[in-house]
Amino acid sequence: MIMKERQPPFLMKVLQALERRKILNEKEETLKRRLVKGWHGELIFDQMMKELPDHMLILKDLNLKHKGSKFQIDTVVIESQCVHLYEVKYHEGNYFYKDNEFQLSSGKGILNPFHQSSRARTLLTQLLEDHDFFVPVKAHVIFPHPHFYLYQAPKLKEFIFLSQWKDHFTELIQNTSSIPNRLQPIADLLCSKHREQFSSEDSPVFHYDQLKKDVFCPHCSSVIRSETRTFMCDNCELRSTTEMVLLQAVEDLRVLFPKRRITTPLIHEWCKGKISKKRIQRVLSKNFEKAGIGRGIHYF
Ligand SMILES: [Zn+2]
Repeated sequence: MIMKERQPPFLMKVLQALERRKILNEKEETLKRRLVKGWHGELIFDQMMKELPDHMLILKDLNLKHKGSKFQIDTVVIESQCVHLYEVKYHEGNYFYKDNEFQLSSGKGILNPFHQSSRARTLLTQLLEDHDFFVPVKAHVIFPHPHFYLYQAPKLKEFIFLSQWKDHFTELIQNTSSIPNRLQPIADLLCSKHREQFSSEDSPVFHYDQLKKDVFCPHCSSVIRSETRTFMCDNCELRSTTEMVLLQAVEDLRVLFPKRRITTPLIHEWCKGKISKKRIQRVLSKNFEKAGIGRGIHYF
């Protein structure tokens, strides 16, 4: 049973909204690609976990803190005897395991995910013990990309390669009893300890005035042109309703400028005046709560 769902990383949403309206610099582009790829890997892993029996509790994407140390866990599975922690690494291509590191053929090293998952396991164990839960916590690192290969892979029980997944999954569901989960309070505790968003030093810096105002395809982010009552994308040939386009524009504005009030004139400007104020007002009234009067009317 899913106790906590996964949300797209906030920074990924910021960068995706931003790239419609400005050219990302190299650092932003690299970061966006990394986040999109990681997110994709996590969704694939969610699919792999879909058949988990209902009495096993799943918590996705937890941001936790224990005694000042922050840690993030991609997925936690709570069964009757044990808490499992999964770190998802969606690496693609050939890597070599050398000097305790993952290395690309170019010799460039990346952090060994074993260290990250060990740290998370230690902190999670301590956090649970502080709340009088003395249960084993097992850490796993899963590599779900079909084109990932690790040469000289160490025999670490924590690492689960795609070809080993089926056995791991079978073992996971066989070892657990189907009686109501006595560890349910652990799920409640972890949900209550989760904190939505850690501030990130990677956050891009941008200003409203620098960003392009226009209407964009909800599918491929190209600028789209107006046709009778709809918008047409010449790039991917998707036809969008005005409502779809407006909702996307509002979402972008909220992600990029969460403190700004959503008003008809602001959205009109944000869409380069390509949608009439009357239309905008109608869509905003239909989809959002209204507050204020006269010129102070805004939506949330
Ligand atoms: Zn398109």
